[in-house]
Amino acid sequence: MKSFKQVFFFLAILISLCELSSAQTKPEFDLVLSGGRVIDPETKLDAIRNVGIRDHKIVAISATPLKGRETIDVSGLVVAPGFIDLHVHGITNKEQEYQLHDGVTTALELEWGMGAIAKWYQSMQSKSLINYGASVCWPFERSQAIKAYQISKNSRANGFHLLSATADSVNEFLKPSFYQSLNTEQIQQTLKNIQSSLAEGAIGIGVPVGYLPGAKEEEVYRVYELAGKMKAPIFTHVRDVGFVFVQQAISDAMLTGAPLHIVHINSMSLSNISLGIEMVQTARKKGFDISTELYPYTASSTNLASAVFDEGWQKKMDISYGDLQWVATGERLTKETFNAYRKTGGMVIIHVMKPEWIKAGIASKGTMIASDGMPYALLAHPRTAGTFSRVLGKYSREEKLIDLSTAIEKMTLLPAKRLETIAPVMRKKGRIQVGADADITIFNPATVIDKADFEKGLAFSDGIEYVIVNGTFILRNGKTINHIFPGQPIYGKFKN
Ligand SMILES: [Zn+2]
Repeated sequence: MKSFKQVFFFLAILISLCELSSAQTKPEFDLVLSGGRVIDPETKLDAIRNVGIRDHKIVAISATPLKGRETIDVSGLVVAPGFIDLHVHGITNKEQEYQLHDGVTTALELEWGMGAIAKWYQSMQSKSLINYGASVCWPFERSQAIKAYQISKNSRANGFHLLSATADSVNEFLKPSFYQSLNTEQIQQTLKNIQSSLAEGAIGIGVPVGYLPGAKEEEVYRVYELAGKMKAPIFTHVRDVGFVFVQQAISDAMLTGAPLHIVHINSMSLSNISLGIEMVQTARKKGFDISTELYPYTASSTNLASAVFDEGWQKKMDISYGDLQWVATGERLTKETFNAYRKTGGMVIIHVMKPEWIKAGIASKGTMIASDGMPYALLAHPRTAGTFSRVLGKYSREEKLIDLSTAIEKMTLLPAKRLETIAPVMRKKGRIQVGADADITIFNPATVIDKADFEKGLAFSDGIEYVIVNGTFILRNGKTINHIFPGQPIYGKFKN
């Protein structure tokens, strides 16, 4: 009979052999997405594949089965790069939940940007459901070049969001500066302020000049000049509604070499949308770094107290009071309610566009999809919740305006490429490729559709089944996973 010692020795060897063999068969991937239709617009891959994810990255794309610690069967679903929204004003977890139910994994505030941007990035750290970032807020930087509007460094708590509809005291304090013109010295100071904010990590420069009647042509031109020298893109809401202002922005960009992205070309060009897009496309063919975007709705939205509704708005937009819908209640306005609400301020929806203009924009080559999603309110503009599913469901599947791969390209690869030079981390996003970040949206192409509308207000989109941000599920079987914050900051390359 063997001694106790011998038996123990034998068992110890057996256990260590078992451990060795289990190490050898240890799954190679943290997660495998098996059997989905993988669409990658850059490589033109559109085929059934298995995707292996490890350490927040895509590390394998294979036609043969892969072994993961966890494997999810995604057959019948489309595996797409996570959607990248270049234009959101809803930047809290509340709006982010609507965004991720619409397939968005990166949402950026580039039109208005953020004032005191380093503070804002700090305030978002480890608190964001999806990836986040913002541009320099030019309206804020210029206000700080005017003595009467200067804000002490101590009161810059979480950054300033000047589009915000809330009657925030800082916003109310700064807004009159939008009507003030700058002298040469103040322009120089504004340029210095912009450069410091770029050095804090901002992604280009937000120039919503349409809201700043006080900003003269020279001031804006000097901002473009700086952008041209630094190759920092400008994201602009052009000076006013009308095609000539799209031309003005393009001309400033061509003269200065500034990279330029014109936001919501639909609500800027209105009936001239095709001509506006043709000019952007022609500029690109001639080698200028100019691009544009639209959202898939026939109404726009903004604050009733803003300069958009200064004298002459009816003629410019060819609409009247009844075309305005008050977000707080859903009511259509009259002359009386318009005057009353304009004093208090608040969001309004503007029914101003024709369905054919939107179709022309979506069908046009190279035009990106971006939501211009608003801060939360139940009756906020539905683009806040449904932009991307609406393009996939209504315009691609139902109306067959563009094929699925082209639709995905407009919300993934094109916005990633738009940002690559200012934010190199974007080279790893907008793609399902080995080495790319595991930002992935998995949806049902037969059912994906927007559910938010102008009558009932915001609602989660249908058909977005899984969303993965940096390798972590944040949406699973159509349900949000609470209390996790996988969103990472996207910084511009000038960050110190
Ligand atoms: Zn805008």
